[in-house]
Amino acid sequence: GEPNPANRAPSTSLPSTDGGSTGSLSRRQLIAQRRKSLPIADVEKRLVEEVRKHDTLIIVGETGSGKTTQIPQYLWNAEFCHDGKTIGVTQPRRVAAVTVSKRVAEECGVELGKQVGYSIRFDDMTSGLTRIKYMTDGLLLREALLDPYLSRYSVIIVDEAHERTVHTDVLLGLLKDVQKARSKSNCTADNSNIQLGNGIIFNKELGNSGGFKQQNSQKVLPLKVIIMSASLDARVFSDYFGGARAVHIQGRQFLVEILYTLHPQPDYLDSALITIFQIHLEEAPGDVLVFLTGQEEIESVERLIQERLRELPEGKRNVLTVPIFSSLPSEQQMRVFAATPPGFRKVILATNIAETSVTIPGIKYVVDPGFVKARSYDPVKGIESLIVIPTSKAQALQRSGRAGREGPGKCFRLYPESEFEKLEASTMPEIKRCNLSNVILQLKALGVDDVTGFDFIEKPPRASIVKSLEQLFLLGALTEDCKLSHPLGHQMARLPLDPIYSKALIQASQFNCLVEMLITVAMLSVESIFYAPAEKLDEARTAMKGFSSPDSDHITLINVFRAAEEFLEKRTGINKGKDEKILKKWCKENFINSRSLRHARDIHRQIKGHVGQMGLQISSCGEDMLQYRRCLAASFFLNAALRQPEGSYRALASGQVVQIHPSSILFRAKPDCIIFNELVQTNNKYIRSITRIDYLWLTELAPQYYTMEK
Ligand code: ADP
Ligand code: MG
Repeated sequence: GEPNPANRAPSTSLPSTDGGSTGSLSRRQLIAQRRKSLPIADVEKRLVEEVRKHDTLIIVGETGSGKTTQIPQYLWNAEFCHDGKTIGVTQPRRVAAVTVSKRVAEECGVELGKQVGYSIRFDDMTSGLTRIKYMTDGLLLREALLDPYLSRYSVIIVDEAHERTVHTDVLLGLLKDVQKARSKSNCTADNSNIQLGNGIIFNKELGNSGGFKQQNSQKVLPLKVIIMSASLDARVFSDYFGGARAVHIQGRQFLVEILYTLHPQPDYLDSALITIFQIHLEEAPGDVLVFLTGQEEIESVERLIQERLRELPEGKRNVLTVPIFSSLPSEQQMRVFAATPPGFRKVILATNIAETSVTIPGIKYVVDPGFVKARSYDPVKGIESLIVIPTSKAQALQRSGRAGREGPGKCFRLYPESEFEKLEASTMPEIKRCNLSNVILQLKALGVDDVTGFDFIEKPPRASIVKSLEQLFLLGALTEDCKLSHPLGHQMARLPLDPIYSKALIQASQFNCLVEMLITVAMLSVESIFYAPAEKLDEARTAMKGFSSPDSDHITLINVFRAAEEFLEKRTGINKGKDEKILKKWCKENFINSRSLRHARDIHRQIKGHVGQMGLQISSCGEDMLQYRRCLAASFFLNAALRQPEGSYRALASGQVVQIHPSSILFRAKPDCIIFNELVQTNNKYIRSITRIDYLWLTELAPQYYTMEK
């Protein structure tokens, strides 16, 4: 196949590649030198003093100044980890938690998972030794269910707060309460129920049922909260924390020349591709960072670049493409940080994760099509979807800033300058545009019964709260008076999944098809299992037929998962590392996206562990797929749709008219009644992940929602 220089290149930025002690010594020196030269290093002492003086501190600093990697280390050195306590750092994105913790472990000269580690959903790399722990904001919220005082932490750093993810927003509210509770001098961890200012009743019972043991008589010390943000607007956080102190860290930024297109671009991917090659062929050396909206786009652009490279003369093919997105296996994520091999130009294809969460060295050119994938919620219809929308001005500025970290750079915005002026100033906080069922379920589990009364940094729309409460009630998680139901609501709150998927798993244990549903939920949690490159469309279609079930995309996904397992089972006695390689080959032959399948297999293992701990009956329906489809209907009845005379579908819950996505098995068959799992909006409203059901099952299996007349 293709020569892949990344695999052969040394993963260090040292000029010499020979190992040995001198090599590793100089790498350490190099790291020490890099750390000292970061803008933040000059203010280490002052920062530590500020943290000592103030229980809540807001730190604003330009991206790349060293906030995320350095501040936790400064605090560790300044003994903020007294009595075995941990410094927790939350990130909105999994990739950031993983890559940053790896970097920091290396800077500290410790093995990842020992003193420095990370913990994200489905992947925990921490131990009792861990003193600096990077994690997603969502994960810390879940930890609060088991450890209401967050008693193992002396400091919590909420990083990337400007992103304003729904989890960050809820976490801020929670931290405010925990801080209040912990600052009360007589507070010990063995009170079973405490009532906090915000109305949270921390319920220790729930925590203990999760197997968590609290150190009983141990005194809980005050909690330091640090909020870090890349945007200059610290006011909103400061106000929220009662006028908390904010400090600014000066960054270093070189001039970035901004270039716009003359005309709007009809196809931004094509336009990105042209720009990448224009940079490669006409501009001075330097790496390129391209902002795309998701895995699918990244992988298709990556293929197109490879194709066009083959058309170039031998001497001009020195381009190395490196993707980075959240579901990329973690060791592949680190490839973006590897030094570009001499004579090569690295083209990094990233989601907006590279906007502020991770800083990649060596970037001189940024290609910004000006789009981002975002959650959007229609509270009236109760439908959440992912849509591709224009970035905000703040995002565009952050993106172009990435080109000027180490020297002057250029940013190619793939839209006319007049369009820039029309962009929103900043992105709307996620809490205002997402389904809140998940968050409400967690707040309820934390004892916050009055969700509307919760002290949010910014209130979500009342209609969203009402709709989400209604959905939780329909799923059986809440009782009629909006309390968490027993046992269903409590069980659902324990699973780290969307409530609708948690419900499906619990439901499946009653339908004797939990084996199948575990696979389903895992496969639905990843993007695009199948891939069909344009030049091999027919082959890909034939390969897909081999797995397909006439009734169901869900069953088709199960077939893929099982085929992979069977394939691996046949090869006994081969070690795991080798397995991955063989599986990759198998995926390639079958036009399966190996990264996605691998991710799904990981998720499967983890959720299986969770449901096992919960004591659910893990049994299989065997050949009886009717039973499984009935279970899908019982679980996803909120996403049922009926065929219209002209071939489109009407979603029963929302009344919305939708189309079956061409990638669905049922695109041609168009059955009368279906359930679906995904709604994507482009020009059309498309539904994906579809299974044929019988209309009558809805009234039989979800009578709380469907009556005969409906
Ligand atoms: P901030 O949080 O202020 O945006 P970071 O602490 O993330 O800044 O980054 C500080 C510096 O560390 C940057 O110059 C970045 O390039 C570098 N860095 C971060 N992670 C890695 C890594 N895995 N490998 C090499 N350099 C890294
Ligand atoms: Mg950072």
